[in-house]
Amino acid sequence: MLGLMQNRPLLISTVIEHAANFHSAAEIVSRTCEGPIHRCSYGDINRRSKQLANALTGLGVKPGDRIASLAWNGYRHMEMYFGVSGMGAILHTINPRLFPEQIEYIANHAEDKFLFFDLTFLPVVEKLAAAMKTVKGFVLMTDRAHMPASTGIPNLQCYEDLIANQSTEYVWPDFDENTASSLCYTSGTTGNPKGVLYSHRSSLLHSMLACSVDGLGLGTNETALLVVPMFHVNAWGMPYAGALCGAKLVMPGPGLDGKSVYELMRDEKVTLALGVPTVWLMLFQYVDANKLEPKQDLSLTRVVIGGSSAPRAMCERFETNFGAFVMHAWGMTEMSPLGTVCNLLPKHKGYNLQQRLDIQAKQGRAVFGVEMRITDDDGKVLPNDGKAFGHLMVRGPWIVASYYRNEGGVILDADGYFDTGDVATIDPDGYMQITDRSKDVIKSGGEWISSIDLENAAMGHPAVAEAAVIGAAHTKWQERPLLIIVKKQGQQLTREDMLQYLEGKIVKWWTPDDVVFVDELPHTATGKLQKMKLREQFKGYRLPTDV
Ligand code: AMP
Repeated sequence: MLGLMQNRPLLISTVIEHAANFHSAAEIVSRTCEGPIHRCSYGDINRRSKQLANALTGLGVKPGDRIASLAWNGYRHMEMYFGVSGMGAILHTINPRLFPEQIEYIANHAEDKFLFFDLTFLPVVEKLAAAMKTVKGFVLMTDRAHMPASTGIPNLQCYEDLIANQSTEYVWPDFDENTASSLCYTSGTTGNPKGVLYSHRSSLLHSMLACSVDGLGLGTNETALLVVPMFHVNAWGMPYAGALCGAKLVMPGPGLDGKSVYELMRDEKVTLALGVPTVWLMLFQYVDANKLEPKQDLSLTRVVIGGSSAPRAMCERFETNFGAFVMHAWGMTEMSPLGTVCNLLPKHKGYNLQQRLDIQAKQGRAVFGVEMRITDDDGKVLPNDGKAFGHLMVRGPWIVASYYRNEGGVILDADGYFDTGDVATIDPDGYMQITDRSKDVIKSGGEWISSIDLENAAMGHPAVAEAAVIGAAHTKWQERPLLIIVKKQGQQLTREDMLQYLEGKIVKWWTPDDVVFVDELPHTATGKLQKMKLREQFKGYRLPTDV
């Protein structure tokens, strides 16, 4: 027997419509590429999203079409979040930090119809426009006054001109909540970047969870600074969650340096800030260099840190110097991204700061909706005893079922669990702690580096018998590549020779921070390189760049 309740679909358009009706005055504050701070409301975002939807309809955009963005966090990007998805098309947020060949690859793989981009990315788009085979038109997300006099970009339009004469009347269509809403490629896998295709349903369920008290606790009374970019897993879902609960949102645009972030925090009275550890280190440096008093200047009460492990010292500093509680969170592009949040339990009430930090250094407990377990190499489920460590497996309604166009084939096990590529322990209270990574990628400042690509490049050198690349700990970037080489017998090769050899063969920011030479690398009985063992071997290694 079926229940007799209304079966209204969970659609992204309902979120902005709700925000416009019930939180219409709540602000969206953006630092723009053009310079000034821009202020608008959810009511404005709803109106302009509708104008955008009308404009896209006029351009022939149909439900299911992919509309790409190359943009920072800002109000126009937010209008795309609602306008594009709301009309039934798919917003493809491209990570501008990828190197040009990857951007070209994913735009073609996604078969994007239009590309919207910020002024910052004009040079990249000029370079790539001709290679983006399916893109029919380009839209520069600015006003007439900032349009370049001439560019090599065909069919270039101005965003403000595009929507200016469009009606603000638009009835958001109803459709199946399982319809795709946005697309985000991840490089955190081997091989080419793979697309994760979110649905309206998955995005809404995830947003509701983000607003729950033991999720991220976002609410009407919060002013949230989204330092996490809108091209990284939909800024951790915050644009949707913010509209859902009517939180004031603060968007830093391209200004991610310590000064810009601090000033926004202070001027907008930010209470909750979200970002990866690297940006917070830049903030700390600015505070130190200018002898500032964050506790007095700022209204910050909570900071969500994810994307990489939040160092204990960082949690402590936010607490003592900023008066802000760190919520350590873990997730993935494949998970929309929320998996775990490190909130405290009633039993921790009497804990002193140091005892509490022991807990906060863990990645946290699974939020409702995420089923999580650890398994050994044979798939046997391991106990949640805080000691056994194994492959971290997850399933749930906002977790990937397969990659876009089935790249990588079947990615779930027989029980429907997805292997995160992280290795973790889970303690009896349910706190998960990442201990290692089984996937062969390095995460530096929140962005992925392929160790396999680096190894292949190094192996091209005639004096190299074998090469392995692992992520070594780095204070600012969390991880940087360390290249470990076994030389061919009788061959001469120095660190400098190797680094010089790699120049031009890899993007500059992938360059290993150090090269070391060893007699042999650890292998399994079947001859496979044992990266985990190698990481263990180089655990305390101090990179020369980590000063
Ligand atoms: P991405 O898909 O780019 O968001 O990257 C997801 C991956 O980042 C995870 O599988 C982890 O390897 C890593 N990661 C995310 N959050 C954390 C965290 N709090 N601690 C350690 N690693 C993390």
